Amino acid sequence: MTPATVSEAAARRRVIAVFLIQGTVSCIALLWVTWLRRDQITGIFHGLGSSAFILVGIFLAFAFAMALVKFELTNLIFVSLVITACMASFPLLGASLAAWTAVLSATIARWLAMKQLGPVKTDMQDPTVEYVKTFAGQFGTYGIPVLVAGTIYEKLGGEVPLIHATGRAALLVVIGSLALIATNLLLMFMPARSYGYSAKKIFGLDLVDGSISLLTLPYAVVTALSFGAMGWGAVLALAFTGVIANLVARNLAVTRSRSLQQLQRLASLTNIGKTISLRFTTDQLLMKIYTECKKIVDCSLFTIALLDESTDELSFELDVREDTFLPKDRMPVGEGLNSWVVKHHQPLLIGSVAEERRYGVKAIADTKPTESWLGVPMIARDRVIGVISVESFRKNAFSDDDLLLITAIANQAAVALENAHLYKDLEGLTYALEQRVMERTNELRETNLRLMAADRSKNQFLANMSHELRTPLNSIIGFSSVLLESTRNIVQPRLYKFLENIHAAGNHLLELINDILDLSKIEAGKMELRADRFDLHETLAAVERVMKGFAAEANVRILAKIDPDVPNVCLDEGRLKQILFNLLSNAVKFSPQGGPVNVNVAAIPKEESPIGVNAVRIEVADQGIGIAPDELQRIFDEFYQTEEGRRSRRGGTGLGLSLTRNFVELHHGRIEVQSTPGKGSCFTMYLPVDYHEAAGVMPPQMLQLGSAEQRVVH
Ligand code: ADP
Repeated sequence: MTPATVSEAAARRRVIAVFLIQGTVSCIALLWVTWLRRDQITGIFHGLGSSAFILVGIFLAFAFAMALVKFELTNLIFVSLVITACMASFPLLGASLAAWTAVLSATIARWLAMKQLGPVKTDMQDPTVEYVKTFAGQFGTYGIPVLVAGTIYEKLGGEVPLIHATGRAALLVVIGSLALIATNLLLMFMPARSYGYSAKKIFGLDLVDGSISLLTLPYAVVTALSFGAMGWGAVLALAFTGVIANLVARNLAVTRSRSLQQLQRLASLTNIGKTISLRFTTDQLLMKIYTECKKIVDCSLFTIALLDESTDELSFELDVREDTFLPKDRMPVGEGLNSWVVKHHQPLLIGSVAEERRYGVKAIADTKPTESWLGVPMIARDRVIGVISVESFRKNAFSDDDLLLITAIANQAAVALENAHLYKDLEGLTYALEQRVMERTNELRETNLRLMAADRSKNQFLANMSHELRTPLNSIIGFSSVLLESTRNIVQPRLYKFLENIHAAGNHLLELINDILDLSKIEAGKMELRADRFDLHETLAAVERVMKGFAAEANVRILAKIDPDVPNVCLDEGRLKQILFNLLSNAVKFSPQGGPVNVNVAAIPKEESPIGVNAVRIEVADQGIGIAPDELQRIFDEFYQTEEGRRSRRGGTGLGLSLTRNFVELHHGRIEVQSTPGKGSCFTMYLPVDYHEAAGVMPPQMLQLGSAEQRVVH
């Protein structure tokens, strides 16, 4: 048992004891006084004649009706207007008869309230306390105060039954009534204390109770005095008016409190609406929904259960019983009211245990069964994701209004929860994605490192191998050349041809090795240019001289034309010669017999230059086999040879143009090709007049970008 329940149980025992003691003592006192004053009662009946019965009836009905229009000010304390009837009755019926009338009418009204009949209903959370209060409490609350008031009135010389309406009589009724109010408040002190109320709080409540009784005092005086002048008809009329007036006032008060409640409900709905837009965790959201619901729906139990579709279970994420938070719990979907709501996709409103049986659903047994139950499904995207339910120990505690309200809350809550889930999922996904990206990045970094290491090894290997291969090759080429020179007329022509083949193959192999070495140097970024100033005329003439033999063999004419205004250039002459040899040997190789190969060199001023600096344009054009348009892009790739080129079996390695392009770009130049299959090709390159100037204009990074684009231009 928690400390809260210990003190609750103690308070309950105290309340029962106080009411029982007070009630028994009061009842005995009332019976005793009645016995002592039995003559007065018979006297009154005798004096009033048949009116006596009518008056008793009127006051019984009056007090009873007033008890039914109680004003509810707090959940526990009622301000009872029965006092008004009591104040009006004692001068006419005498102290004991009036006291019995008051006790009887208040007890009946209370008993009806307990049975949930009539306008006022009592919360039957603890029936024992209610029964004690009803059948014992009323003696103290009404019986004794009326007895005290009547006795004081009579002791001061008040007339019973009051027939003569005089100022003195009115004054005495007022004095008696004040005593009645005071005794009532005094006697209520003990039970209120036993509930655990502080004296200050009781005083505050007494102030409200007392002032309402005082307000009706003049009315009670008039009712008492009216009998003498006009008879019981006047008493009846005034009693009737009093009940109606109080009924209207009560309804007004109820309407006002309802409109305040509606406002409160609207505010809570808005609050929940706002909650949706905030990034709450699921638990925070549920708590928020609970606090807002609690403000607007009067319930003893509150639960939010979420549906776990994977296990077909209801998970009670929030379970609050009389302000105590219970631990989270799970339950399979099946029996019970919550499951009914989940299965039917519908709200369920039950007013009492009897009604629950009518629905054929059974609440899962709990220690203290509740009477009213209201549960609504939380629906998001047409799926039930959970249930919000409220319970009360009172019968018919929830109205259709409550159902509508909780449905609105449940709808909003469903969206909010769904959002929270989505947000969580999204966070999870983002996290997973980040992890994946990180893993992949690390993998790539490692692969890259491995590749770089492999690349370094490859280049190193190539450099070593080339060196190792070139040494024996030089011997082969050198000695075969010597043999060719010295054995021209000595060996048989067939054997001499073999020697020539050895020499040519050796040269070819050397070229290939040199090309591969150059390419691997370029790839490794180790190719450095040695730019010097030189005369392009002379370079071209030198290349022409070397090429002449080869061209003559193929029966091709090389026609070189160089503009006289072409200035001296500052480039790597060796590499330029290599470029020209490559382009010219291709042009010769792929030309038909007797076909011309034209070499044109012109100076291009900076303004017209596609490379942004003063340049020389070198064109090498032939009228050979040409290149198919779809292969133009690829001829600069390493080892690529065109279909037509391979078919014509003119040899080659597919490395020449790749090297050429690299050398041109290392010079910050650019190379393009135009070709028509069967008609010939024209390679055009732009080289800066001054390599250093071009290197200064284009920073290295841009150069790489530029060269990538130029590949497309080729
Ligand atoms: P190789 O000439 O050693 O095969 P290159 O890189 O110099 O290698 O040339 C690649 C390919 O481009 C050649 O094999 C050939 O198919 C094609 N090619 C190059 N120049 C010409 C040209 N002037 N006419 C036709 N095809 C050419």
